[in-house]
Amino acid sequence: MSLVQIIPLGGAGEIGKNCTVVRQGDEMIVVDCGISFPHEEHFGVDIVIPDFTFLIENKDLIQGVFITHAHEDHVGALSFLLPELEVPVYATTFGAAMIKSKLDERMRGANPDIHIVEPGDTVEVGALSVEYVRVTHSIPETCALAIRTEHGIVLFTADFKFDFTPVDGLTSDIARLTELGKEGVLALISDSTNIDRPGWGPSESEVSNGLRKAFTEAPGRVLMTMFSSNVHRMQQALDVAHETGRKLAVAGRRMESTLQLAAREGYVDIPEGTFIRLDDIQSYGDNKLVILSTGSQGEPMAALSQMSRQEYGRMQIKKGDTVLYSARPIPGNEGAIWRTVNRLFLLGANVITESEVPIHVSGHGYQEEVKMMVNITNPYYVVPVHGEPRHQMIYREMVKKMGWPEHRVFTIQNGQTLMIDSNKAEYGPEVEWGELLIDQHGDVAVTSPVLGERTALGHDGVIVVSVGVDLKRGEVKTRPEITTRGFSGPSEVIDEGMEAVCDALAAMKQGARTDAFIIRDVIESAIKKTVQRTCRQRPVVIGVVVPEKG
Ligand SMILES: [Zn+2]
Ligand SMILES: [Zn+2]
Repeated sequence: MSLVQIIPLGGAGEIGKNCTVVRQGDEMIVVDCGISFPHEEHFGVDIVIPDFTFLIENKDLIQGVFITHAHEDHVGALSFLLPELEVPVYATTFGAAMIKSKLDERMRGANPDIHIVEPGDTVEVGALSVEYVRVTHSIPETCALAIRTEHGIVLFTADFKFDFTPVDGLTSDIARLTELGKEGVLALISDSTNIDRPGWGPSESEVSNGLRKAFTEAPGRVLMTMFSSNVHRMQQALDVAHETGRKLAVAGRRMESTLQLAAREGYVDIPEGTFIRLDDIQSYGDNKLVILSTGSQGEPMAALSQMSRQEYGRMQIKKGDTVLYSARPIPGNEGAIWRTVNRLFLLGANVITESEVPIHVSGHGYQEEVKMMVNITNPYYVVPVHGEPRHQMIYREMVKKMGWPEHRVFTIQNGQTLMIDSNKAEYGPEVEWGELLIDQHGDVAVTSPVLGERTALGHDGVIVVSVGVDLKRGEVKTRPEITTRGFSGPSEVIDEGMEAVCDALAAMKQGARTDAFIIRDVIESAIKKTVQRTCRQRPVVIGVVVPEKG
């Protein structure tokens, strides 16, 4: 019998860019293909995607990409993978519709091979099969994936919670998960996002109560910001708006297109007469309006962020507005969010980010829900992913208390290979993995050296030193010129730098002064040394040699 290998290329030891390979013999399937968001030090980086080298090198073995749900951290990188790799993609109806609309945006004219799988369906690919099992989360049709291998089932929980009053009435298929447990789960690849939260998380439908209170108490317009993919939250906003006599409009392209798609495909039911166009809000009293807006993460170009800077053409924030943050910050976005919140307050809005009656609940199960997943699926091996190392360690301690011995828990990291056969599981060789930084134009343009230079520019600015040289004769013809931008060192440093450059040029052999590259290195290093010695700064230094005629 062949080994079963589980190889995370993203999403293990982090929350974001989920992408995991399951391999048996010469067959591979890929589960999810997502992005993550940049950290503060990622200057000019828009999104981060997994390095797909391993997939591209093994492209003949890959049977398909199986999508658990349509969140960006699970599907966002498809538009980067599919041009490199012609493979079928499997997703539910809603997932497929979201993927198509995103691919249309980023891969004009592409015609990806997307297959629709309904919750409950099983797809056979080669010797492997993949069963889609419904779980509750914060986007429709999220599915756990049960992958049948020669050694048992590898069960990906997907992002999940156990919500018994979901907005669409479709609960997790607990009966099926239990049956899979009886059949024999070899390894549970489990969401661990909220493992540090004790107890049981609140149901999505509790948000209705928070919205009802806020919509009723708000004296004027209500602006509500949230993730545009959360159509169950949209449904609740629509229902509570209708109930409290308010009309609902939408600001932000992504929010608009998701609502349209969800309404068209029947995932959102718009109460009659409740939805209005944003350009028509003037026709209604302020206390008769709810405006759903993008920008819950402080994204600079999103509608709410633009409104906070008074740059949004279609409406302005004014005194009496209430802004509801119906989303939790993704780590790294806090600064941008609070800056937006502060600007909104200065414009006269009342901003509500937390409320006694929740206006946001998480889509990920708390500790007791995760225990229930482990309990009913009864896996031999437990592999916490979709969490940072601290989440993975808390998970390990939790299942140890539940009776799982330590050697059956793997806190796997990106690039590691977990090899499982009939007797044991152990880590195998690391595969090529990494992350690619994508700029706002969608190009893989931001490499580590570029990032290093941007950090240096951000901290200490740039110094340009230029000199005119007759390269034929090896004679310096002009006095060096030094220009700075963003450099905050004292002006004496520049004078000293100038002297150092002149001395260094004079000390060069005449022959060396015929080579522009050597001259450039010499003048750059003279400036760098002077600056570091006198003020300990590390600006970017650029040497320019201007060829002069004799
Ligand atoms: Zn996720
Ligand atoms: Zn998710």
